[in-house]
Amino acid sequence: MAAPFNREPALLNFDFYNPTQILFGKGQIAAITPLIPAGARVMMLYGGGSIKRNGVYDEVKAALGGHAVVEFPGIEPNPQYETLMKAVEIVKAERIDFLLAVGGGSVIDGTKFIAAAALFGDADPWLILEKGGRNIAAALPFGSVLTLPATGSEMNSASVITRAATQEKRPFANRLVFPKFSVLDPSTTFTLPLRQVGNGVVDAFVHVMEQYMTHPVNAPVQDRWAEGLLLTLIEEGPKTLSEPDNLDVRANIMWTATMALNGVIGVGVPQDWSTHMIGHELTALYHLDHAQTLAVVLPGMLTVRREAKRAKLLQYAARVWGLVEGDEDGRIDAAIERTRAFFEQMGVKTRLSGYGLDAGAIDAVVNRLEAHKLVKLGEHRDVDAAASRAALQLSL
Ligand code: NAP
Ligand code: FE
Repeated sequence: MAAPFNREPALLNFDFYNPTQILFGKGQIAAITPLIPAGARVMMLYGGGSIKRNGVYDEVKAALGGHAVVEFPGIEPNPQYETLMKAVEIVKAERIDFLLAVGGGSVIDGTKFIAAAALFGDADPWLILEKGGRNIAAALPFGSVLTLPATGSEMNSASVITRAATQEKRPFANRLVFPKFSVLDPSTTFTLPLRQVGNGVVDAFVHVMEQYMTHPVNAPVQDRWAEGLLLTLIEEGPKTLSEPDNLDVRANIMWTATMALNGVIGVGVPQDWSTHMIGHELTALYHLDHAQTLAVVLPGMLTVRREAKRAKLLQYAARVWGLVEGDEDGRIDAAIERTRAFFEQMGVKTRLSGYGLDAGAIDAVVNRLEAHKLVKLGEHRDVDAAASRAALQLSL
């Protein structure tokens, strides 16, 4: 008889909620017309102009035909509080009642903040970041047209905002900021620069790892889903580089990135997120792209946390990388090396030196983690400043 005390803990209790309607496929931008409330005064938000060069702007404008539309361009990568507050002023002045984000994770994240900040009353909207979004009581409705598969922001309730003045990058989440709908038209991604293609694959990969690579619970369906997403990224990701005009590949990457962080694979299992929290400090201080920071932090973090994650690292080695020969530590080392090599294959450098940074950057990041009280990270809340330092040192 199996000894009951050796069993993994059961799938944890959960409360799953995801109301975002997904319109997937080529030509779906036109389908948003009936999803925008009749008579709504719409603000269309976008970034630095990629949508004007690839035709997405024209498609969206056509779909918005019957509505009063105010445009807010210029949401930058790693969207800034200072920029977004300008949009909040216009939303209030123009009595906007529906927002439409058109772009990548930065535009969608920024729109989530604007949606909440516009209805935050007289209080300082930065408090939304201070409280991680727990203090949001209302938000404007919004939809999105995604042009960069990476963040999952198009189907989740999270957002990450940067305050340039204080070099802070902070996340918030609240069920009130799920998009009402998101369009995933993979043909919009043909114009992505290779750097952003690689970034997107790495970000999605690390989202899966943050929810999968923990101590095991008895959650085989969560494990198999996560492994399926990782394997798809490993198989399809390099094809976006070698066959950039292949719509099937673009479609599969787009849906995989959405599935990687829409809540499904994260319910009922422990979650880590230490790599993301350390990465945010690297971006805030040194302006690395989000995925670049993840590619630097994750391999070292897996190495540092190998005892707490041992069973799952072995499962990952076997099921994702087919590593079943040799002793346990050799398999774990090989799996971490394969992970690093995959990020490099996607064109995302995995060492601080690749971005012109040295040990001084590690000191600065660790100081920031301490100042921001980010010293109890990971699924066991035991990734302290020393562990973060050790992880970064492995990626000098
Ligand atoms: P992004 O910052 O939204 O966009 C990066 C660049 O890609 C921009 O210069 C953008 O140009 C360009 N671009 C986007 N779509 C394009 C297209 N179809 N063709 C050509 N260029 C295109 O990148 P992202 O990786 O999606 O978002 C990163 C942000 O999301 C970070 O702040 C990160 O912390 C956050 N994030 C959020 C979550 C979440 O759950 N909410 C999760 C992970 C990360 P334009 O500006 O000209 O459009
Ligand atoms: Fe991310």
